[in-house]
Amino acid sequence: MDFRYYMPVKIVCGRDCVRKNAPAFAEYGKKALVVTGKSSSANGALADVTAALAENGQEWLVYDKIPPNPTVDCVREGGALARGFGADFVVAIGGGSPMDAAKAIAMLARQDAGENIFAYQASADVLPMLHVPTTAGTGSEVTPYAILTNDEKETKTSISNPAYFPKAAFLDGKYMLGLPRDTTVYTAIDAMSHAMEGMLSVRAGALTDALAKESLRVLRGELPALASGRLSEEDRDALLYAATLAGMVIANTGTSAVHSMGYSLTYFHGAPHGRANGLLLPEFFAVCEEKSPARAKEILNAAGFSSPSEFAAALAPLLGEREKISDELLHAYAKKASVNKNIKNCSVFFDEADLFRVLKASVGC
Ligand code: NAP
Ligand code: ZN
Repeated sequence: MDFRYYMPVKIVCGRDCVRKNAPAFAEYGKKALVVTGKSSSANGALADVTAALAENGQEWLVYDKIPPNPTVDCVREGGALARGFGADFVVAIGGGSPMDAAKAIAMLARQDAGENIFAYQASADVLPMLHVPTTAGTGSEVTPYAILTNDEKETKTSISNPAYFPKAAFLDGKYMLGLPRDTTVYTAIDAMSHAMEGMLSVRAGALTDALAKESLRVLRGELPALASGRLSEEDRDALLYAATLAGMVIANTGTSAVHSMGYSLTYFHGAPHGRANGLLLPEFFAVCEEKSPARAKEILNAAGFSSPSEFAAALAPLLGEREKISDELLHAYAKKASVNKNIKNCSVFFDEADLFRVLKASVGC
């Protein structure tokens, strides 16, 4: 057996874990920049974090302007705010968008990334971060990736650095009790995509496979609740557990062609990230099954499916009506995806024609 695995994030999971672990926030300094979106003031997460900071006698400033699919402008604004405030650390609260933005902000608080943040090689001089996820999908709380909208290249681009691993992640499913059904479904599919794509990575190993299989086992058990739209606290906890496990997978393996193609569906058609992956995933596995039948079968079976068509039938009702995109655009997206670095990360090689086939079968007219 031959593998490497790295996970420097302290993971604290349980009901009211933020309030119960307030002293853990005291370790990182006197002043926190709290990076979030709009929903954390309603779901209780912002109140729990500020109560913990207040208990420690710490100061904080809330920056709550992170939009879905965070932009370079918003992270630059957050970085400037962190500098002006003299923040010692960052607390990120939200879905993948605020959690990713917080990583770039923590870097920009200490470094001048110049004109092009995507070309900048950051040093390890980054403010410490504590992450509180309020969606169960991206796993950003345990990854070293921040995915930002890249308008120059008309896509989304991941900036990655070991220094972007948060110091700690606080997992409490109670924040997701009011998460809308669509976001719940799409984020769960994103987690599924991470576990399945992680197993196909050239960097997959025994330990990431074990984490991915456990994530897929739990996600499979949650499909009926996701379909019904009625999710108990236990369902929320299970989805969050599965999403963090899948994040621990991609932190070590990266993602693959599904994410490469999905970025165009998000950038040009506004498909939420997890939905974009879900639209593509079954057809991607149909091609994988042709090229690498044994590994594709192992992954599908781990997710509880015997074939790509059974997998497609399970996801279809969760996704509803599909986007319909012309061949001309799909050719352009296949070309764009074919040069994404994720393609080389996949143990099954997808050339531009393969990518077009997957896109056409998934969202073609
Ligand atoms: P998101 O964009 O963070 O959030 C989606 C929507 O859900 C927003 O409107 C958000 O509102 C709302 N929301 C979040 N938590 C809520 C709650 N508890 N109750 C009610 N509404 C809530 O979606 P996401 O799918 O979690 O993250 C997607 C982003 O993560 C993409 O940019 C994707 O590229 C990235 N991503 C990163 C990684 C990684 O490893 N770093 C992996 C996969 C994906 P507010 O934001 O206004 O609160
Ligand atoms: Zn993803």
